[in-house]
Amino acid sequence: MENEIKAKSLLNRHKKRDEWFLGDYTINPYAGCSMGCIYCYTRGSKYGGNYGVKVVPKSNAVPILKKQLKNSIRRNERGFIVLGSASDPYPTVEKDMKLTREILGLIKRYKFPLHILTKSTRVARDMDILNAINEVAILPPELDDKLDGGVIVSFSLSTLNDGLARIIEPGAPSPINRLETMKMFSEAGFKTGVINMPVLPYISDSKDEIEDMVKMAINYGGDYVLYSGLTLYGDASGDCKTLYDQFLKENYPELLSDYKKLFRGSFAPSKDYQDVLAKKFAEISRKYGIKNSII
Ligand code: SF4
Repeated sequence: MENEIKAKSLLNRHKKRDEWFLGDYTINPYAGCSMGCIYCYTRGSKYGGNYGVKVVPKSNAVPILKKQLKNSIRRNERGFIVLGSASDPYPTVEKDMKLTREILGLIKRYKFPLHILTKSTRVARDMDILNAINEVAILPPELDDKLDGGVIVSFSLSTLNDGLARIIEPGAPSPINRLETMKMFSEAGFKTGVINMPVLPYISDSKDEIEDMVKMAINYGGDYVLYSGLTLYGDASGDCKTLYDQFLKENYPELLSDYKKLFRGSFAPSKDYQDVLAKKFAEISRKYGIKNSII
């Protein structure tokens, strides 16, 4: 496998805004992710490519992005950039490589608003640039009265259980460390929240588990809790469906037949299950007065 990628494009534009993350564009400075989550949708799906835990930087990211941002402004297009949709922008190598930090510098220079998705505590290192972007970013007119600043920082958690997280997200900081980092961003005045993704069927989807997640999000300064169900792709040895099946066999063998019934050979749980999950989140979030959307 290659050690660097020459990307053709870094700033990828959506046809229309993704209302969930508010993204008009996505940027992924790296291919592959050192967090190693067994459920990672890029492992086995058509999105992102399965690099396992190997992380490959896009070595021409900075000059390409500079050109693309300039061109976007020339066309009078400036929208929300989602950083880290297919790989965490703070993998282990970012500590020394500082590619994400360089990219943030460009985003600041060209005043684009930004939504970072991460599991990493390392994002706190870049609080200085993020503060600057928060102040200078020019919001799309239709979001101008809905947001106080140009930066949103979301922390992704699938469970609050540290032991379980170590098995399913072996390269990620503990859930509590992610929440503590979120608190730092909240106290510094950023819009921040939890992405409870994926919610693991019969493992982290009970009313009690969801209630604990919502309460922790609030206690640690979260403005919102987004959520999403589990999706499983692929049959190759490193694909997420294979890894997740293996995890169930080793840790929850009693759930194997329930999962089979729930997924029915599909990549996602049944619609009925998803409706019940949505109802649980809506009820619990309403009870605690927190939104399931960013705005
Ligand atoms: S942090 Fe995100 S991108 Fe990285 S392995 Fe986990 S789910 Fe995939």
